Amino acid sequence: MVDFTFTEEQEDIRRAAKEFAEKEFTQELAMECDREEKYPRELVKKCAELGFHAVAIPEEYGGGGYGPIEQMIVMEEFSAVNPGLAIACLTPIFGVEILLNHGSEEQKENWIPKLCSGEAIMGMANTEPDAGSDAASIKTKATLDGDEWVLNGTKQFITNGTVADFILVTAKTKELEWKDRHKAITYFLVETDREGFKATKITGKLGIRASDTAEISLSNVRVPKGNMVGEEGKGFYYMMEFFDITRVWVAAQAVGIARGALKLAADYVKQRKAFGVPLASFQYIQFRLAELATKIEAARTLTYRAAAIQVEQGKPDSMLSSMAKWYAGEVAVETCDWALQFHGGYGYIDEYPINQFYRDAKITEIYEGAKEIEKLIVARHILGVK
Ligand SMILES: Cc1cc2nc3c(=O)[nH]c(=O)nc-3n(C[C@H](O)[C@H](O)[C@H](O)COP(=O)(O)OP(=O)(O)OC[C@H]3O[C@@H](n4cnc5c(N)ncnc54)[C@H](O)[C@@H]3O)c2cc1C
Repeated sequence: MVDFTFTEEQEDIRRAAKEFAEKEFTQELAMECDREEKYPRELVKKCAELGFHAVAIPEEYGGGGYGPIEQMIVMEEFSAVNPGLAIACLTPIFGVEILLNHGSEEQKENWIPKLCSGEAIMGMANTEPDAGSDAASIKTKATLDGDEWVLNGTKQFITNGTVADFILVTAKTKELEWKDRHKAITYFLVETDREGFKATKITGKLGIRASDTAEISLSNVRVPKGNMVGEEGKGFYYMMEFFDITRVWVAAQAVGIARGALKLAADYVKQRKAFGVPLASFQYIQFRLAELATKIEAARTLTYRAAAIQVEQGKPDSMLSSMAKWYAGEVAVETCDWALQFHGGYGYIDEYPINQFYRDAKITEIYEGAKEIEKLIVARHILGVK
């Protein structure tokens, strides 16, 4: 029998996450961070003290010891209240799966407990000015010089770039033929206080403006040999494995955003009157709400199925993760579009929360694999193409 019920413990986590977000993600703070593109340091610290961001990290490193489902629950509940603050609060560990699965014991012991306690923040840098979807076409190089690797290159759109203590950076350690280029990529742990490391905040983002995004320049940055993460030449494979895990996380973000936007729409149409009656009494609006609610439920079921399979199999299912991410992203964007439409002119003003939801939703169709890339992955599975 298919059982979609959450355990009592999972319900407790959901309740706690919802209560935290409703209390701490005030409209005042959300607007301040959105308008001023401000990283909410105090809030991120408070959230870390309660362990929400580290819910799925093993207890031996100071995490909650739960799994992907609990991680989705927190992401969904936070994003339903405010997507920008949610992503700032939950990404201080962005990339930790790569460290957990492939890092040395020394790297893990040095950093993961600090990430869990909120003392440290990390990031993961692959994207470059000329390499996004084609993640294997990076130009950043790492050259061995004695006992150190020397890194040179530029990374683009890096979450936590200016606030992180260290970043997992992909670089090429050799030149291979174009068809083999993915075999040249290796991860390096780069502390952000190293000479030659420079992060420049990117401003003017459409949404998730509370989240820090930066361009990173690496100019002869030297790291010890021990800072290589995992094996040389395996970085691309680690990255693909990482995306299979975190795409479900983005899907949960999208489901939360859609749920939050639908609630804003429902609340608004009940109180706003036109032609002498509440907007909610128009059947056109009722049908739209019903259609959106159905799509959200479908996206949510797919997302939790993709998370559940990670638990069942002990590893993600690439096709399900990709399906969940593109579908939930599309549902989030569509829901926010209609929810803003129902707000009329007021939705166009940033004082109304739907305005921010509308702008925040779009990122779920772009990062961690744009939706076209997710569809390519799904199609490859259907066609049996490697
Ligand atoms: C706010 C934000 C935070 C981010 N955080 C990080 C981070 O922390 N670390 C990191 O490494 N990166 C990060 N990124 C980068 C993000 O993952 C990339 O922007 C994304 O992968 C797309 O790459 P691109 O922007 O180069 O677009 P491109 O690769 O240039 O793609 C442009 C468009 O073309 C489409 N396209 C490309 N190839 C195909 C194809 N074969 N078939 C059909 N359509 C195709 C894409 O789907 C997309 O719609 C972030 C981006 C943003 C905006």
